Amino acid sequence: MVSATAVVVTSRNFQCINSGVGGRVIAGAIATGAVAWFALVVFAPGLPAALAAAVYTVGSLICHQMPERSFHWHGAQLAVCARCTGIYLGACASAFLAPLPPALYARWGAPTRIAWLLGAAAVPMGVTLVAEWVGVWAPSSIVRAATGLVLGAAGALVLLAAINYSECLPRAAAAPRPPHPRQPPTPI
Ligand SMILES: [Zn+2]
Repeated sequence: MVSATAVVVTSRNFQCINSGVGGRVIAGAIATGAVAWFALVVFAPGLPAALAAAVYTVGSLICHQMPERSFHWHGAQLAVCARCTGIYLGACASAFLAPLPPALYARWGAPTRIAWLLGAAAVPMGVTLVAEWVGVWAPSSIVRAATGLVLGAAGALVLLAAINYSECLPRAAAAPRPPHPRQPPTPI
């Protein structure tokens, strides 16, 4: 039986006990999937017909695919709308954290930080959605994508962090050093 050797990865505030198989592998698989899905969505218009049809079908299950709210490439709209494209682009950006030591980002896996980060990241999208619904503003596709990018990046960050969080702990503060005992004066 082979016993896994624990590796302690530390940052300034966090340290992670990583056994080599676990959080980082799962995070890497999710990150790879996010990048692959984004590539399929963006390049769908140029894919072979059968593969493109499959991507557009999956896209239709998760997105309205309205042409006027989508980016176009080579004369055809992408497989999802601009807002969804932004979400997946943001997820790709955070996916590049996966190869890095979890100690660098695992702190964002704490439940309270997840709630605050996702809540804050959802504000721009929420504002544009409400503005659309009440009819005071019709944001451009660039704006829709930008709000999606913020939420997608935050979502992927907390997902990767949460996967690794159980292996990571805040570093204990260094214990204060006891004062040096006074040395008696050396007799001359
Ligand atoms: Zn969409």
